Amino acid sequence: MSVRWGLIGASTIAKQFMINAIRAQEGGEISAVMSSSPERAKAYAAENSVPLAVSTLDDLLGAGIDAVYISTTNELHLEQAQAAIKAGKHVLCEKPLALTSADARTMVAAAKAAGIVLGTNHHLRNAGAHRTMRDAISAGRIGKPIAARVFHSVYLPENLQGWRITKPEAGGGVVLDITVHDADTLRFVLGDDPIEISAFTQSAGMAGSGLEDGAMCIWRFKSGVIAQSHEGFTTKFADTGFEVHGSEGSLIGKNVMTQKPVGTVLLRTAKGEEELSFDHEDLYVRSLRQFHAAISGKGQPSATGEDGVWSLASAEAALQSEKSGKAVAIDPKLGSAK
Ligand code: NDP
Repeated sequence: MSVRWGLIGASTIAKQFMINAIRAQEGGEISAVMSSSPERAKAYAAENSVPLAVSTLDDLLGAGIDAVYISTTNELHLEQAQAAIKAGKHVLCEKPLALTSADARTMVAAAKAAGIVLGTNHHLRNAGAHRTMRDAISAGRIGKPIAARVFHSVYLPENLQGWRITKPEAGGGVVLDITVHDADTLRFVLGDDPIEISAFTQSAGMAGSGLEDGAMCIWRFKSGVIAQSHEGFTTKFADTGFEVHGSEGSLIGKNVMTQKPVGTVLLRTAKGEEELSFDHEDLYVRSLRQFHAAISGKGQPSATGEDGVWSLASAEAALQSEKSGKAVAIDPKLGSAK
């Protein structure tokens, strides 16, 4: 099956990961790229061997494509996804799906009504490390999960120190950037949904314009599991990690909150310690494979539109919690974790 893709956004993430992930699929082709600037569209197309460069959405949607990958800044996702859905194109959209969970629900409803496949590019669900932890938990290897800890504070690379730290109107800030991923990964690994969050955020010297560049969140899940997460742009020397502690054991993932298929997962129980093996496939290649399968009627994208609503509703609740100084209920007005 051939799938012709149009890229909406001449972005870093497309260049670094997604162009390769599309081309790694049998029948995966990139037909066109759209940038708001004709010059940048041309330069980006030449640099990445994309046959057509356009600077309007109409031209992109009219370029004989089957699907779009949206990786513009966050305030543009909704309108661009709606136009693509209207034109009958499948949509893989970057996180956050929109600036509010209400807008994200609008996107999901539009895709459903049109019979279009909509996916959210939450890459961490595709990491072997996280899939191994999820499998170990559902096989009962740590008994009853009690608590989780997420270490996802990094240093935002200089080339990305743009709209994320200067433009609230573009959906900047670490909560919309990274807390959404933590929400999704916690839901995926635990197979549980968060119901409440309490958050402190900070501006530790990198972000301006009232945006936050660090956050610590405390989460409560339906099952009673509690979790803590730390997201940041400013910690040059911190490790990342993901831990789940249960009644009969602990899972300790090190260096696993990353775009690369790396890290280690340790299972510690009364029997001792065991390093769990997992596959090291490129996260984005796996995500694209699932998306192509979903287009051909087999299964769903690894993270659906609904999953994107959940992660955005969680981030939204975290921001409200910082403002109000209180714990805030998470209510995506959708169904539960799979
Ligand atoms: P970029 O800043 O690289 O790109 C975003 C937009 O900025 C582009 O669409 C482009 O606009 C414009 N732009 C890019 N480079 C330049 C430039 N040199 N001069 C002027 N404008 C420029 O963003 P990212 O790739 O980091 O992020 C894009 C989206 O992807 C966001 O929604 C983000 O949250 C998400 N993301 C997801 C990741 C994941 O792993 N799931 C990882 C990283 C980002 P135009 O298209 O009009 O040219």
